[in-house]
Amino acid sequence: MSDSGLNPNRRKRTPGDPVERLAELRHEFGEHGGVNMSIEASTTFTVLEAGTMPEIFQGRLGPDEGGCFLYGRHFNPTVFVLGRQLAALEGAEAGYCASSGLAAISAALLGCLEHGDHIVASDTLYGGTWAMLAEFLPAKCGITTTFVDVTDLDAVRSAMTSRTKVLYCESLTNPTLRVPDLSELSTIAHEQDSTFIVDNTFTPLVITPIDHGADVVVHSLTKFINGASDFIAGAVVGTGEFIGSLMDLHVGPLMILGPTMDPQVAHSIGLRVPHLPIRMVEHSRRAMEFATRLQALGVRTVYPGLSDHPDHERFKTLARSEYGFGGLITIDAGTRERAERLMEDLQNIEGFGFMAVSLGYFDTLMSCSASSTSSEMDDDSLDAAGISPGLVRMSIGFTGSLEQRWNQFERALERCGLIEASS
Ligand SMILES: *Cc1c(COP(=O)(O)O)cnc(C)c1O
Repeated sequence: MSDSGLNPNRRKRTPGDPVERLAELRHEFGEHGGVNMSIEASTTFTVLEAGTMPEIFQGRLGPDEGGCFLYGRHFNPTVFVLGRQLAALEGAEAGYCASSGLAAISAALLGCLEHGDHIVASDTLYGGTWAMLAEFLPAKCGITTTFVDVTDLDAVRSAMTSRTKVLYCESLTNPTLRVPDLSELSTIAHEQDSTFIVDNTFTPLVITPIDHGADVVVHSLTKFINGASDFIAGAVVGTGEFIGSLMDLHVGPLMILGPTMDPQVAHSIGLRVPHLPIRMVEHSRRAMEFATRLQALGVRTVYPGLSDHPDHERFKTLARSEYGFGGLITIDAGTRERAERLMEDLQNIEGFGFMAVSLGYFDTLMSCSASSTSSEMDDDSLDAAGISPGLVRMSIGFTGSLEQRWNQFERALERCGLIEASS
């Protein structure tokens, strides 16, 4: 069935470079000729001819067909602009936004699945996604998930059943920073006519999953894409038909569950997309530099840019080299106590960064994964996923100078006994 086109969610790839696609979007002028688009704050829209109301409600007469927008929980023009930016970023036909990353993820999943269906998913996922798949969906929707190591293709293949409608993974596993072979996973998904969904929150621009066979890409815009840690937001991109189905007036999860993005939020985030490329380059440059120096000092460091990373070569084949290897590194402090001491020192003594969950901020954020973002997982699952108690995940920021930040880092490592004191 693989290429029969039976599954309308199957990708339609837009070729080319994400930054060039963004630049080619029709420019949206503000109402008064401003260089930024105006915010369309209206929750409802004016119908000009009473007789067209039924067609507008049946979705047959949109704003491009002489009708109008319907209602703010359905499409909003400002939110639509951000959706188009993200579709351009990911090389997808269409995109739309939601009030959070998890709302985008649940909408994408429910858009593909019915009661009794089955998901095969990575065993290292963002904690909230893991809870949705492991607990929420089986309890509330009768949808079950088999979790596998997605770097083990045989395990993935044998987990697929005739009811498997979705194969789900993250472009970079959290927090273990493994890189799945997206092309192979896409082939396995399509053999079953399943939809391959990739969460690309960790690697916008660095990796474009649709280029490697993903059908649907989801994002938490709360992280790198927004970059200022001031909005919770999400997005889903895919075929025009798939995005349209999420807005179906009867069974569309974005329409019926109502995780609507506020147009003011869409406008603010849209203004940060044009400088995402510059930010990603600097996050990656600093993360590479720190990872290299940490490793040279004997600190157990995981970063896909290091040549001893198990997926270093695969990352290079998937990634756009001008954006480096991403902004996330992990170091293993050995024990939870030492990890906590290090983070306290870095924050409270050195002012190197903040002890906080989340990522993609302009300052460095650090958290101990086992006791924070992955705490939804039980000890056995943590162990199986290779998330040790002393693992500190760092989202490397770009404020201050690189050498100033490195000196802070080195002093804290010395005080916590992770490296020898330099004389
Ligand atoms: C944060 C995050 C999410 C959830 O996004 P929210 O915006 O917090 O709902 C999903 N996936 C990944 C990889 C994340 O980092």
